[in-house]
Amino acid sequence: MYEEEVVIIGAGISGLATALALHKKGIKSIVMERSETLRNNSGTGIGIRPNGWRALDQLGVADILRRTAIPFQRERVVSLDGGRKQDISLYHCVGETRCLRRKDIIDTLYAALPPTTVKFSCQLDSIELDPLTTKPILRFIDGSSIITKVVIGCDGGKSIVSDFLNLKPTKMFPIFSVRGLTNYPHGHPFGHEFTNFMKDDMHVGRVPIDNNTIYWFSSQPYIPKDEGIWKNPEVIRQYAIELLGNFPHEIQEMAKNADINSLSFTHLRYRDPWDILVGTFSRGTVTVAGDAMHVMGPFMGQGGSAALEDAVVLARNMAQAGLNHIQSGSNVIVHRVGEAFNRFVRERRVRVVRLSLQAYLIGMMLGTSSHLKKIIWTILLNFFFPNQKSHMDYDCGDL
Ligand SMILES: Cc1cc2nc3c(=O)[nH]c(=O)nc-3n(C[C@H](O)[C@H](O)[C@H](O)COP(=O)(O)OP(=O)(O)OC[C@H]3O[C@@H](n4cnc5c(N)ncnc54)[C@H](O)[C@@H]3O)c2cc1C
Repeated sequence: MYEEEVVIIGAGISGLATALALHKKGIKSIVMERSETLRNNSGTGIGIRPNGWRALDQLGVADILRRTAIPFQRERVVSLDGGRKQDISLYHCVGETRCLRRKDIIDTLYAALPPTTVKFSCQLDSIELDPLTTKPILRFIDGSSIITKVVIGCDGGKSIVSDFLNLKPTKMFPIFSVRGLTNYPHGHPFGHEFTNFMKDDMHVGRVPIDNNTIYWFSSQPYIPKDEGIWKNPEVIRQYAIELLGNFPHEIQEMAKNADINSLSFTHLRYRDPWDILVGTFSRGTVTVAGDAMHVMGPFMGQGGSAALEDAVVLARNMAQAGLNHIQSGSNVIVHRVGEAFNRFVRERRVRVVRLSLQAYLIGMMLGTSSHLKKIIWTILLNFFFPNQKSHMDYDCGDL
């Protein structure tokens, strides 16, 4: 068994951003990822709101990513039930919003790290504390183990590290989402506009990444079927075409012409806002960040940006505790890391409870077919969040 100082589990947006934030503060870490290669082959897009751009600026990669995607000039909601149209101008009131290819954000974060930071094919199986030293021991499914001083679980919505912290299991919304990218070789006609089409219980979003590529997604109440079949992109495409049969011709064409490798199907997962309010997110020198801490419905496009904010806040707190000199004695480390993690959790809890509650209320409203329940969820949403765009104003502060 060999020893490492700071181990991050998972090389998604959260794990890579956390490793980069620590690196910029002079704290060395390694990232253990279960996949054989970087998970940059998921073909879809990810919307980044102004709060996410502030975090990317702190991580020093925002300008590289700005070159890959155009800013939106407005956001429009189109109701297709009664032909009612509602236009909301985003450009002046909420600042910078762009949709990135997921591949671009993963590749850019990875490229900014020292070359040997990420270790692939390392799937964490369990964590225990060494009975003598109380240091975490990480056991991997290939039978290997590491003893470490600090563990940061960025292992997503089904996190082993959050199980170690005794967090409650995450739950499923009664909603699923189909996503894809469509290329228009001669340019698309949709301008710099994020358009949301609403029809019956369905929501379809159409988002330009650049002048040739559109990211689109649909969300609808979950139809329980064998989810195994959804791993076949051709089946997903046929399903999407059927699903969008009553939508305008341009939307149907978008699904028909989607890049087959970009199509994905997801049953939406969330951590209960009440569990986030009271959950224990750190124990000694072990904590969680990103979806492992606060997986939420994607209705506000904030899960990824919240993971970027986590990275900045966590690294700032670790550096403020003097952990860039982590070679000092073990008891000092446990004490200082524990305090830094407590401050991190305190700082993040209010923010992620608000985000998760708002996403939860939207998910419950979209996921019910009862008109009465829809009205109740809408009243609660308006009561708790009179300004439903305020989540974008958040500033996670300097690294
Ligand atoms: C349909 C949909 C649309 C979305 N749209 C947006 C959006 O527009 N804007 C936005 O900000 N957010 C959006 N999100 C949310 C966003 O995708 C997530 O919040 C973000 O990707 C979380 O990143 P993460 O690194 O925490 O988790 P993940 O991306 O799940 O990464 C976890 C990593 O850990 C690895 N891992 C897991 N278990 C282990 C283990 N045991 N050992 C080793 N490695 C492990 C995985 O292989 C993976 O690489 C959306 C989500 C969905 C489902």
